[in-house]
Amino acid sequence: MLNIVLFGPPGAGKGTQSAKLIDKYQLVHLSTGDLLRSEIAAGTELGLKAKGLMAAGMLVPDDVVIGMIDNKLAQNPSSNGFIFDGFPRTIPQAEALDVLLKSRGTGISAMIALEVEEQELISRLLIRGQSSGRPDDQNETLIAQRVTEYNTKTRPVADFYKAQGKFHSVYGIGEIEEIFGNLCTVMDSL
Ligand code: AMP
Repeated sequence: MLNIVLFGPPGAGKGTQSAKLIDKYQLVHLSTGDLLRSEIAAGTELGLKAKGLMAAGMLVPDDVVIGMIDNKLAQNPSSNGFIFDGFPRTIPQAEALDVLLKSRGTGISAMIALEVEEQELISRLLIRGQSSGRPDDQNETLIAQRVTEYNTKTRPVADFYKAQGKFHSVYGIGEIEEIFGNLCTVMDSL
């Protein structure tokens, strides 16, 4: 199996590039942000719990997202592999993911980080907010809060994979196709 953590701050292009990667490599896309938004849209108890935190630009509790990933892994037993997008976002999530994959006889093949400077992220997210309808893309204070969560809780996850010799990075500013080509070069080297 090819199991990839596509990593990067909010607005780095993870969703856009995941869609292209799953198409080319026949992988299953697991975005915890998308899964949480589906729970909110369906009005579930989990969605209700997550809604306030997401709207405030805060991370939802680890056990909530780990449980969602566990369910999705169970639902796709014969997949070629997974692209994890927006997960793991904390060290405990990364540790739990290793345990979940190991129990299924597999593991993470690589983390690929999309590197984008902070000022570019903020302007991309403000533009996305005009059409996405996402409440957390609507104002600069909330976006800054998400970037702070990323810098304090999520950035250290890269070190977790560096320690395992699985870290790769790709520059995330430029044409979508050019960035995709650079991601594919890493994918094909795995
Ligand atoms: P995203 O669509 O990945 O930008 O995620 C949107 C929001 O969902 C984040 O700002 C968090 O509030 C929440 N979220 C998504 N994935 C996670 C995760 N792995 N851990 C904690 N919170 C998450």
